[in-house]
Amino acid sequence: MESAYSLAKAELEKIRAKNRAELENRWNIVKSTNPRIEEIKKELTHCGTELLKCVLEKNGRFEEIKSHIQALQAEKYSILKDNNLPTDFLDDIYDCEICHDTGNANGEMCVCMKRLIQNAVWKNSNLTEKMQSQTFENYDHTVFGEEAAAIMDKVFAYCTRFAEQFDKTHENLLLTGGAGTGKTYLSSCIANRAVERGFSVYYQSAYRLFEIAEQVKFGRAADDEAEIMKYVYDADLLIIDDLGTEFISAFSTAAFFDIINERLLNRKSTVLSTNLNMESLEEIYSRRVTSRFAGEYRIVQTVGKDLRLN
Ligand SMILES: [Zn+2]
Repeated sequence: MESAYSLAKAELEKIRAKNRAELENRWNIVKSTNPRIEEIKKELTHCGTELLKCVLEKNGRFEEIKSHIQALQAEKYSILKDNNLPTDFLDDIYDCEICHDTGNANGEMCVCMKRLIQNAVWKNSNLTEKMQSQTFENYDHTVFGEEAAAIMDKVFAYCTRFAEQFDKTHENLLLTGGAGTGKTYLSSCIANRAVERGFSVYYQSAYRLFEIAEQVKFGRAADDEAEIMKYVYDADLLIIDDLGTEFISAFSTAAFFDIINERLLNRKSTVLSTNLNMESLEEIYSRRVTSRFAGEYRIVQTVGKDLRLN
């Protein structure tokens, strides 16, 4: 898994290539009826280089070259006009008018580059499109049923604070509750808020996570799976969904302990969600594992009625 920054840079290069191709296409359109435009293009490129030389060598030809460029431009415009094309038809094309697709403006990263990085963080987060739409802003407490609403409001308020502050509080969450009571929904809300705040997030179901860990451990991993495991340890926020539904083995238990332990040592926050209560977790993972996170995780109980039955 490439870093969000290198993904964003690759995306920016794609945009530049797309615009170069489009411009080339436009020159060809004009050339098909006006071959003279090709000479003008070459001459303009040549003049550009000459002008640069002028500035560097401080020779006196600056005005001469400048007026030649102006004459070429005028000829170009008249050809475009004759073909009923706009005068900027052969100008450079940019997606971003602020930085002209360089990613930098006024010595700072341009907003377009920031947006590309955020998109890449989202891509790396492994959140599905549906999950990306599940936000604190879209939270509708009526879906959990009247009885649960008051408690779920508190749960959401608490989780909002968590998502706003985990980088400072280094808190961890264990979301427990019956199937379909909103744990994944809550996880999505937390993940989305964290990405919006500029943090890297990785979401994965326990089942798939330990499957990947096993592939990597036994050298059967696909190219990006080894990278994913790095991300599991390094992401600012890790969310493991549906803990207890994975294939439980000595390996998965050890892998789970290692991930939890490493992230605690590095003060990186983790959110676990599970249908199981503490006793069942202890039965599955042994006391050594549960005692490692018992004191470090805030347990949040969801009580919403089964959303999947709606
Ligand atoms: Zn820009």
